[in-house]
Order: sequence, then C-alpha cells, then structure tokens
Amino acid sequence: MLSEAGLVRLWREVYAMTDPVTPLDYDCGELCESLCCQDWEEGVGMYLLPGEELLLAGEPWLTRRWHDTQRYSLPTSWDRGAWFVTCEGWCPRSMRPFGCRTFPLTADMSEDGDWRLILDPNGLPICPLIKVDRPELLQPAFRATMKRAWRKLLTVEAIRNEVLASSRRRRMRIPPRHA
Ligand code: SF4
Ligand code: SF4
Repeated sequence: MLSEAGLVRLWREVYAMTDPVTPLDYDCGELCESLCCQDWEEGVGMYLLPGEELLLAGEPWLTRRWHDTQRYSLPTSWDRGAWFVTCEGWCPRSMRPFGCRTFPLTADMSEDGDWRLILDPNGLPICPLIKVDRPELLQPAFRATMKRAWRKLLTVEAIRNEVLASSRRRRMRIPPRHA
C-alpha cells in the first residue's frame, strides 16, 4: 500500500503527463460550447479518485463536499467516502481534476481485472465526441497518454476497486464502447 507521500508523488506524475494532451487537435469546446465545464444539470460535479484530494486540498476554486458511503451509493472499498467536487466553470488548467483530463474516456474493468479505455457513457447526454461513437477520432497521443496514466493509477488498490465498482454499475446500464 502506498504511503500518503507516495500517493501525492503518483498524482503529481499523472497530472504532469496528462497536462499537454487534449482529445482533439483543436479545442473540442468549440463543438459544444464547453458543456462539460458548465452546470448542464443541477448538481453536476465529479468524484475525485482516491488520493487525488491530497493534491487538490488547497485549491480555492473547487468546492468540495464529503460524501459518506453510508449515505451515498459509493464503492465500499472507498472506506469512509469520497470527495465530490464542483467548479464555477473555470480552473487553473494545470490543476484540473483527473476526471476532466480523461473525459470523454474512462477506464472500464472486467471481473477478471482486465481493463480498457472506453467512451464514458455517463457523458452521452452532453458530449459530441461520445455521441459520434468513434473513439478513433480522438488524437492518438491523447488516447496513449490516458492509457499510460490509468495504468499508473490502477496500481493503487483503492483506485482499482473504484474502477471495478463503477464498471459493474455501468454494465448494468449500458454496454461499453471500447477506445
Ligand atoms: S463535452 Fe466533449 S466535446 Fe464538449 S468540451 Fe467536453 S470533452 Fe469536449
Ligand atoms: S475543473 Fe476545469 S476542466 Fe474541470 S469542469 Fe471545471 S472548468 Fe472544466
């Protein structure tokens, strides 16, 4: 199990490697008026992955709320709960959460532990890149970098457990589209 310092180091590496890449070779926000950075539905936000909160604790532009596993439907592997964050549609780009970096891709894990990147079906109502259902249109550098980033993150047991739990929930709703 990684120490707190080890987790911070890992997250710093992941943020640094994913900083320069974008889904398309131009700002894909032009396609949708940057819907994923807006309040497209009341209360939208994202969960930080385990350990990510250590890097983002002091960021004043993020509103954080603690969601307890007793009250919210969260993977039990998340121990006590998780940080749910929202923003005001602006962030210092170098500190945007990992959920914003990897979107419209996410990791999907099968029961035997194999995993792949998929277009995130949760973003279907808003993201043209998911609606078009052509992962090969995303920049190869973006896909390759996200794959490396997720591979690093999935060495952390709590993150692996979270991805498996999310994948199970997703499979109950909609089959994944592989990237
Ligand atoms: S919703 Fe999709 S297309 Fe629009 S800015 Fe976000 S990732 Fe890009
Ligand atoms: S943190 Fe930044 S990238 Fe993420 S939704 Fe907010 S403005 Fe968009």
